[in-house]
Amino acid sequence: MGSTLSPVLSHHWDAEKSWTLATYEADGGYQGLRKALEMDPADIVTAVKDSGLRGRGGAGFPTGLKWSFLPAPDGGPRYLVVNADESEPGTCKDTPLMMASPQMLIEGVAITSRAIGCDHAFIYVRGEILHVYRRLLRAVEEAYEKGYLGKNILGSGYDLDVTVHAGAGAYICGEETALLDSLEGRRGQPRLKPPFPAVAGLYARPTVVNNVESIASVPAIITGGVDWFRSMGTEKSAGFGLFSLSGHVQRPGQYEAPLGITLRELLEMAGGVREGHELKFWTPGGSSTPLFTAEHLDVPLDYESVGAAGSMLGTRALQIFDDTTCVVRAITRWAEFYAHESCGKCTPCREGTYWLKQVLGRIEHGQGTMEDLDTLLDVCDNILGRSFCALGDGATSTITSGIALFREEFEAHVTGGGCPLDPAASALFE
Ligand code: NAD
Ligand code: SF4
Repeated sequence: MGSTLSPVLSHHWDAEKSWTLATYEADGGYQGLRKALEMDPADIVTAVKDSGLRGRGGAGFPTGLKWSFLPAPDGGPRYLVVNADESEPGTCKDTPLMMASPQMLIEGVAITSRAIGCDHAFIYVRGEILHVYRRLLRAVEEAYEKGYLGKNILGSGYDLDVTVHAGAGAYICGEETALLDSLEGRRGQPRLKPPFPAVAGLYARPTVVNNVESIASVPAIITGGVDWFRSMGTEKSAGFGLFSLSGHVQRPGQYEAPLGITLRELLEMAGGVREGHELKFWTPGGSSTPLFTAEHLDVPLDYESVGAAGSMLGTRALQIFDDTTCVVRAITRWAEFYAHESCGKCTPCREGTYWLKQVLGRIEHGQGTMEDLDTLLDVCDNILGRSFCALGDGATSTITSGIALFREEFEAHVTGGGCPLDPAASALFE
């Protein structure tokens, strides 16, 4: 973990055996749940709404507002599902959070479940991260043993069961409705929205689907209060979050900071770009967001400012690329990812991502034409806004922004017969 400005989520990550219940309790853990059990559930929803917490999974939808969309209780079940299927390239914040502080997530699950009137919550973990799955299983077991889960939690009369479920490792299962299909035992593919999960989610029952970091932020809001939370970040992007710095940076890692911090400030904490090199481009929120360059070093990393500057805050996955990087190659690798992960349900994405990968591949290896650049933009145009879910749209972001920012580098691959930075790479193309 890197240094932090306002450590809350990562407060005890460096403690010995930080993942144990005893360590979490010694750091004030479960005080939020104790307080929440004495509150009216509606007041918990109001507190989270007033805090301004926005979904940390990428979309930034107001968390408390989402909870308030659940219809009035009808005597049937309603569910909380934690989306722990973190898979966006560069996104690596939920995994360390769950490894270092699983009890914070479980406390958040208990408070949220009580707020929305749920007695069975699910944590859906990405299939590949078996170590996280095991850690969560043990953490849930510990929470049951200590009376934080199960029957009559802390003598309050409130019952809650938590099931940890491991997916099978598909990026699309991070899309909330595909996740619900997968959890129900079906092939994970997005459902038509509306109805949103809040109305018809798991087993067609009202369901709140929230990201790991969103839920882990809830205990602190209950203990610290709305004003404290709002004192960090910006007016419309309140609070703190984990910023994941990776790539050509001296000290990659998780940096917890108030929303609105800039990449320049984060790089200062992370020791800067790799020695002897300059920043060339970066992703503010993972591979589904338009690229930024050194010109954007001072853009406040909050939803509004990043949007106004032409990108998206997304998952705060800051992938840093220095001047040794071939932008065509980086973008081609991402395009390969999307083509592989497209679920195939809709034509624009299924066919479009395949062709993006093909055309980018031949440009990267010096076998493209100038017309290929227009073909790429045309394919992107036919995917964007025409795909069934956000995966298709996301696949186009780095391509359209990359061509806009670095067109001459794409052209150099065409005219020079391959990569000007690494001519040997062209020979690898089959
Ligand atoms: P979205 O904006 O469609 O929805 C966001 C959330 O708000 C959903 O839970 C949705 O159900 C809810 N919502 C929106 N409108 C609603 C309404 N009218 N009524 C009730 N609920 C409503 O975004 P999305 O497609 O869920 O997610 C896209 C984002 O996911 C991208 O911005 C990207 O950053 C992020 N993402 C994250 C990862 C990761 O690994 N964490 C991977 C891929 C994408
Ligand atoms: Fe599947 Fe892609 Fe269509 Fe989403 S956009 S439904 S991932 S084919």
